[in-house]
Order: sequence, then C-alpha cells, then structure tokens
Amino acid sequence: MIERIREEARKAFEEGKIEILIGFGRGTLRATPIFIEKKEDVDKLIWDDTCWINLATYLRRFRGKKTGIVAKGCDARSVVALIAEKQLKREDVYIIGVPCQGMKNEKGEEFLSCRYCEYPTPPVYDVLVGEKREGKKENYPDVSEFESMPPEKRWEFFSEEAKKCIRCYACREACPMCYCEECFVDSLDPRWLEPGLSLSSLQFWHLVRAYHQAGRCSDCGACERACPMDVKILYLTRKLNKEVRELFGFVTGLDPEALPPLGTYSTEDKEEFIL
Ligand code: SF4
Ligand code: SF4
Ligand code: SF4
Repeated sequence: MIERIREEARKAFEEGKIEILIGFGRGTLRATPIFIEKKEDVDKLIWDDTCWINLATYLRRFRGKKTGIVAKGCDARSVVALIAEKQLKREDVYIIGVPCQGMKNEKGEEFLSCRYCEYPTPPVYDVLVGEKREGKKENYPDVSEFESMPPEKRWEFFSEEAKKCIRCYACREACPMCYCEECFVDSLDPRWLEPGLSLSSLQFWHLVRAYHQAGRCSDCGACERACPMDVKILYLTRKLNKEVRELFGFVTGLDPEALPPLGTYSTEDKEEFIL
C-alpha cells in the first residue's frame, strides 16, 4: 500500500497535477502529517493504522495551489463537504484515495468512528490505491444506547463530560469543518460565551460546537482524539449525524454539489419540529 501511494504521488508530481501533497510521514508515536513539495520526497510517505488525523484540515492553507491529499474515507468526505461549502475548488484538489482498514489507538484498539464506519472507501477520488472496502451497516448503536437513557441520566452524562473540558480548543483545531475566521467562543463583540470554566459555559461550548457540525461532520473522530482531557464529544456529533440522516436523508461528504440541510432550505420541509 505504501509503495502504491508513493507511486501515485510521484506520478501526480510528474504529470503536473499537484504542486504540493499532504500525506502521512513517520512521527515519534504515530503517523504525522507531512507536506511534500517535490517528487524526490515522496518516499517519506507512509501508511499504517495510526494515520488517524484528518488531513483535510490542512487543505485550506494551500488554497490557490494544486494540492494533493492522501485521503481515507472520512478525510475525503471532509474534502467533499469543504467543496460543497465553497471553501475549496474541486479542480484544485487531487485526491489519492485510500480504502481504509480502520485506525487504532496505542493499545491496538479500533477507534469508535472506525468501528461503525460506513465509508472506509473515499466516495470521491481522482485515483484509488487498493481495492474498495465495504463499510459497516450498523451505524449508531452507541447513540441509540445514549438515547435510551432517561433524560436526567443523559444530562448527568453530558455534564460530567463537559466538566472535564479545559477549553483548550484542540478539538476545534483538529476539525476540517471548524474554519471560521473568528470562532463564536473568541468573539468579544458580541460576546457569546463568558471566559472561564463554569459548567454552563462548558455546556454551552459543547452544544454549540456540536450544532455547528450538524450535516457537516464526516465522523472522522479527530476532534475527540485531539482532546487532552479525554472528554467524550463524538456522542454529540454522531447523534446529530443520525438526526440529520433521519430527518433529511442527508449524509455528509458524498456529493460536492449537495449543501448541508442547515445551509439551505426546502419549501417541502415538513417542519415537524414546530408544534
Ligand atoms: S472513520 Fe472510517 S475512513 Fe475514517 S479512519 Fe476510521 S475506518 Fe478509516
Ligand atoms: S466534528 Fe470531529 S468527527 Fe466531525 S468532522 Fe470534525 S473532527 Fe471529525
Ligand atoms: S479538546 Fe477537550 S478540553 Fe479542549 S476544548 Fe475540546 S473538549 Fe475541551
């Protein structure tokens, strides 16, 4: 697999399809993002089950350049979501798609998002390295479990997780879809959120972050893994992914032409949430 990724990268440089390539290289503890500017360096590329960072996060930095990206299913879906939101032009991105075998933590355990991954194979790519892989069918058992708790238990769970947060925003920085020039948490005028670590401000941050991801999240799990405090946050974004799918039949990152449901409207909307 590594050889085939290198070969496709080399070819893309030779054929003038890319000026820069975002891929994975060898890090100290796990694979780390690398930015390659010449074909002689493609041998630095690697692929293993620690390549869990979502590389789409770096794409906007290279806007205006022909940029290649080594993308697993979730990275490619984020690329598609960014194109749909007009953050990138399809013709500026060259996707070397890699059907993903699933990513693991340092104990060799598969991550939650990977356990239930429906799209290990990039739905959109310019070249695919390796055979397509089938996704899982049972997508949200963890969310269903959360939903089955009585409301006070759900609130308790949410509060206990939010309490651990130190508002470092590593989760935001790890996410390709958190690209606002000024995040609502940093805005002073208007000020949406008080500074400090009161429970209500932490809960507010977690809820609003999750809502901002509705219909935009590829469920890559990079946000939760970036958290230094082991705060569980995927149950919120996964719950919203499930809601968006059930209400609007929409799955993030499959079609570059399709806007997320909260980025558009339809006169056919049933508006069942209005009492
Ligand atoms: S969520 Fe899917 S595509 Fe993404 S790392 Fe896990 S298995 Fe791979
Ligand atoms: S919110 Fe988390 S899981 Fe969703 S795309 Fe962003 S980093 Fe990935
Ligand atoms: S990475 Fe963790 S601690 Fe930092 S803001 Fe996000 S949830 Fe809070």
